[in-house]
Amino acid sequence: MTGQPEWKIEQPPVEDMMFPVRCMHCHGVYSLTHVQVTGRFTDCSVWTAPCCGMRGIDDRPWVRDRHYQEISREEATSGGDYYDIFGMRHRGGGR
Ligand SMILES: [Zn+2]
Repeated sequence: MTGQPEWKIEQPPVEDMMFPVRCMHCHGVYSLTHVQVTGRFTDCSVWTAPCCGMRGIDDRPWVRDRHYQEISREEATSGGDYYDIFGMRHRGGGR
């Protein structure tokens, strides 16, 4: 299938995510292991969010709060409603 932007990386099921995070831009949930990394520097990595395509996300401690929040797998699956990478709202606790 083509036509997908390259940053739109398919995410594993939440329960298989090693490092689930919540995107602060669209509230999508994605895994840090499944992103398109656009730059690696000595003090941070830079990537494009797989949910909304927000570019320039980096993991330096003083900026990452603006971009994403690390959440637990439990929080991703049961901690209230969450949004998947397609922006679909899901009720917490069920899939
Ligand atoms: Zn997003």
